[in-house]
Amino acid sequence: MSLLIECPHCHATNRLEAARLAELPNCGGCHQPLLSGAPLVATADNLPSILKYSKLPVVIDFWAPWCGPCQSFGPTFAAAAESMAGKVLFVKVDTEAQPALGQQHRVRSIPTLAVFEGGVELERVSGALSAGQFKAWLMQFL
Ligand SMILES: [Zn+2]
Repeated sequence: MSLLIECPHCHATNRLEAARLAELPNCGGCHQPLLSGAPLVATADNLPSILKYSKLPVVIDFWAPWCGPCQSFGPTFAAAAESMAGKVLFVKVDTEAQPALGQQHRVRSIPTLAVFEGGVELERVSGALSAGQFKAWLMQFL
């Protein structure tokens, strides 16, 4: 199972075997860490592998383009992804583009934020959090 990940540094697209997520891979182009800076965009194809192979806790933002609170929370999630790079893996799931994932994870309202470790969901919250609330919530899982 391979993932396409855009390098947050040089923006080259890297094709990566999901199993290599556990090795905290570097970009093939600029050799800087791939899993830093920007959230990964997950699909039904790659999410199970991401959850299974990530060495870091994974936080998923279940969102949709038509959802106002999701839009306003987006920059908070992106900023946290940048400041907590290497501690938590940030993943976004567009529940409109990936309805099966929303159903599979029983997402009833958006945004929903869920934390996983070793493929197991630890906790979730619904609703857009402030930057401070989001960080305090995430710190519990580090
Ligand atoms: Zn790069």
